[in-house]
Amino acid sequence: MSNAPDLRPCLTGMNYQALLTLCRDAGVKDVHAETLNAYVFRSGIRDWHAMPGLPQLLRAYLDQHIGLFEPELIANQQAEDGTRKILLRMSDGKDVESVLIPASGRLTQCVSTQVGCAIGCKFCLTATAGLTRNLSSAEIMAQVFTARHLMGEPVRNLVLMGMGEPLHNYDAVSNFIRMVTDPKGMAFSPRRVTLSTAGLVPAIYRMIEDDLPCSLAVSLNATTDDVRSHIMPINQKYPLQELLKAMHAYIDKHGRKRILIEYILLGGINDSIEDAKRLAKLLDGMASTVNLLPFNPFSGSEWKRPERRHVETFRVELSKAGFVVVVRKSRGSDISAACGQLKTEIAARRKLAAKA
Ligand code: SF4
Repeated sequence: MSNAPDLRPCLTGMNYQALLTLCRDAGVKDVHAETLNAYVFRSGIRDWHAMPGLPQLLRAYLDQHIGLFEPELIANQQAEDGTRKILLRMSDGKDVESVLIPASGRLTQCVSTQVGCAIGCKFCLTATAGLTRNLSSAEIMAQVFTARHLMGEPVRNLVLMGMGEPLHNYDAVSNFIRMVTDPKGMAFSPRRVTLSTAGLVPAIYRMIEDDLPCSLAVSLNATTDDVRSHIMPINQKYPLQELLKAMHAYIDKHGRKRILIEYILLGGINDSIEDAKRLAKLLDGMASTVNLLPFNPFSGSEWKRPERRHVETFRVELSKAGFVVVVRKSRGSDISAACGQLKTEIAARRKLAAKA
């Protein structure tokens, strides 16, 4: 038996238009594209052999031209607070992580968009290995299908905040977002799909231009170009003022939409009261919600967790300035919670086992 990966396209990576083309190529009526769309994205059935009522001609075409890709579940860790971290192996042997966060009956999933990442944020474990490759829309979607299967309930909120910079893989990511928000398919409200970027300014303008149906989160993490360029090298290319201008353009385009600002507090680096004041000034007049995330150190990281009193002072200062501020609890802190940590640990264990 051959171990070569099946490179044929998968139904889970096909939007309605692609399914329509597939039906025409197969020589069956357009109406079957709707049937396929509903089976795959509404009912979660990926295997056409388990879809009653398809014409024989279409089945034969699918057998010949379409692959049935199921990622392999390599690791599945559950934290005391219910947060689950999974590691999935793609057909070429590359592993990606996804995090499932059950909260008040609504399952939130954080999906990865790339194997590794090229952006190089200094506080991120994923960055240490660099970028291996982009994920296809089908591979991003496969994470959502796996979550639904594992948890026995559909995902309610999607955040594109896992491994990778989503805007660096624009075509696959925008296709994925259009598929999950397709009213004939999974029908996610665009408010429940959040794309998080480290600040790829030209791609922010592209998503504005394309009217991508999702919410925007920006991983800001600093209030001066010096500090931001130090912890996020992308700032050397797209400095704060350019990024803020793009964020204002996004809000201008979307009217009442808010931007989610993510701010990782690194002890002694960006967590002073002066930083909080500067942040309030930078965001003045911008409809935004600020998520403060106290840094979770991982082995080998050069940064430390901020002191609790500094987190509180920072929060109070921003609240006083009129911002909605949330200090994010570190969910799943008893498992490999940092982005890239599970993948790194499994790889290290495999290396040890190979040496033994
Ligand atoms: S934080 Fe996000 S954008 Fe930055 S290196 Fe990590 S995965 Fe990439």
